[in-house]
Amino acid sequence: MNTSAASPSVLALSGGIGGAKLALGLTQAMPPESLLIVGNTGDDFEHLGLHVSPDLDTLMYTLSGKADPEKGWGLASESWAFMQALEALGGETWFQLGDGDLATHVERTQRLRAGEHLTEIISDFCRRLGIASRIVPVSDDPVRTIVETPDGDLAFQHYFVRERCQSTVSGFRFQGADAAQPSPFFLEALKAPSLQAVVICPSNPFLSIDPILAVRGVREALQTCRAPVIAVSPLVGGDAVKGPTAKNLRELGHPVSATAVANYYRDFLKGFVVDTRDKATVPEIEKLGLTVEVADTLMTDLESKAALARIVLNFSQRCER
Ligand code: GDP
Repeated sequence: MNTSAASPSVLALSGGIGGAKLALGLTQAMPPESLLIVGNTGDDFEHLGLHVSPDLDTLMYTLSGKADPEKGWGLASESWAFMQALEALGGETWFQLGDGDLATHVERTQRLRAGEHLTEIISDFCRRLGIASRIVPVSDDPVRTIVETPDGDLAFQHYFVRERCQSTVSGFRFQGADAAQPSPFFLEALKAPSLQAVVICPSNPFLSIDPILAVRGVREALQTCRAPVIAVSPLVGGDAVKGPTAKNLRELGHPVSATAVANYYRDFLKGFVVDTRDKATVPEIEKLGLTVEVADTLMTDLESKAALARIVLNFSQRCER
């Protein structure tokens, strides 16, 4: 694999918790400086006057070994003095911000206000946190996921955190995506001769991957990319490991199955990694014209993340066009 930081050999598209698990595995299975991770910013929002980027932060915390291993988001060994003080003052506490995490949001916000781009800020944070891979937001321009429900629109974090995904969803849209300029690192990587694989991490297809695909020119660039695009199923045993992926599939009229996810990405996908527990779906997925790999995709520790990443990288070679 090419080890030049400027020309990544593997490009991973990721949301937060599920995606970051595989991204960490990839850093163990290949030279980490040759990995470019494009993170979803549809979940970003302004809260308490701060710019919060949940998926980018989950990636940064996970890849720097600082993530809370239980929750999968936020920092390990976090303290909560700010939250407690805020609560005492009657402030909004539905979105949990640990003290260390708060520092990330404060520093990011003041740098954005000083005119730096999110890409530069995240790159600098990654360097300071000792992350060898490059993490970039899909765009420096705002992309905001809006959740459409029969009772009206909800801002993403109101749906996801405040309402714990209870609303029935009739659709999602990505405000700003049409006009957003994709990260130049992302588009350059897609065209780079050094690129050997594009990996769609096991993330929520609607809430984590779609906002990336919705940014102007991204879907077309994936369709014409010379390297194989492969996805890892975010379903294990026909259900989500965590979060609303299964509920979203059902509510949007898709079967809750690995096949439905593969079909959803079909226009740019070459290969699909399906969990061992879902191997009955292999013939259906092959009928979509995809190459299929069956693997244990449940990532419970560093070794299982690295093991899946090695399978994904080997599989990508099998999928080469
Ligand atoms: P979020 O932005 O924090 O919701 O995280 P993602 O969208 O990146 O990931 C959510 C998805 O990851 C859900 O569909 C989960 O089923 C999936 N997921 C979480 N852990 C695992 C795992 O160990 N293996 C697989 N295959 N999927 C996982």
